[in-house]
Amino acid sequence: MQFNRRTLLAGAATAASAAAFGVTPTSPARAAAPLAGKQAPGFYRYKLGSFEVTVVTDGARTWPLPDTFVRNVKKEQVAEALKAAFMDSANLVTPFNPIVVNTGAKLVVIDTGLGEGALAQSKGAMGQFHANLAAAGIDVKTIDAVVISHFHPDHINGLVTADGKPAFPNAEILVPAGEWKFWMDDANMSKAAGTPVEGNYKNVRRVFGVNGKVTQYEAGKDVVAGISTIATPGHTPGHVSHIISSGNASVLVQADVTNVPYLFAHNPGWHVMFDMDGAAAEATRRKIYDRAATDKLLIQGFHYPFPSIAYVEKHASGYRTVAAPWNPVL
Ligand SMILES: [Zn+2]
Repeated sequence: MQFNRRTLLAGAATAASAAAFGVTPTSPARAAAPLAGKQAPGFYRYKLGSFEVTVVTDGARTWPLPDTFVRNVKKEQVAEALKAAFMDSANLVTPFNPIVVNTGAKLVVIDTGLGEGALAQSKGAMGQFHANLAAAGIDVKTIDAVVISHFHPDHINGLVTADGKPAFPNAEILVPAGEWKFWMDDANMSKAAGTPVEGNYKNVRRVFGVNGKVTQYEAGKDVVAGISTIATPGHTPGHVSHIISSGNASVLVQADVTNVPYLFAHNPGWHVMFDMDGAAAEATRRKIYDRAATDKLLIQGFHYPFPSIAYVEKHASGYRTVAAPWNPVL
């Protein structure tokens, strides 16, 4: 920059107006600003045809990488992949991102996070969904429907408040019929006795004990006008994904077809420890991601980094995800 008469005059004017506000250019800021010390509320909105989608994060779990996080790959290889993704190779970060869809006619929640109870336990890192809903100006009493993808705790526990009441008192709760059949089966539960999975069966009974009225839906049918469903089994037996469509726009809400994309979209042959049937989950993953890559579909991923929307392209060994760009306006 060259100092000519005009810039010097402009500088003098700035100095004069600064002086008028009691700040002299010779004294810099008078006090250090206090650190905020906490994250801003986590929600992000985008338009889909005439619909609005609001991604409302539940937070994320940071936890030591288990030896068997990927069942069919050595821990060292997983740590390498984390490093390659610029992540901490010793600790996993697992985000949880439910969404709210406003179709113009209905306000619909898809999956619900870990529940308010997790907030205190995790010192605010998880269980943020309900606080972030309020921050986004969404009143839980106005939710018409809650659509569930599968019955793992990070997807259903947000159906219950911290004091054990239905979290969406006026909503119809829509659950996959295949999940209901599998998890509510007492014979299946007794087969799982003594294993970590037994806790899931008990949790399902707790959550749907509180939310007494539940509507089961078959994969392949629409749950709400504009929201269709596809069977995506493997992660759990009755796991379902959703396609939200309005006009020419659509988004594939993949739920847990992959866990974090930089491990499992990148390496679709990797079987995460949470996939109940690894081979079936892999077949589903390849089918869904081939379709998403071919059709250039926008993907909404529950365990993707917030705001958890990306496109996907095929590469040599798997799929590369490209985060959708932030949009300042709707
Ligand atoms: Zn999950």
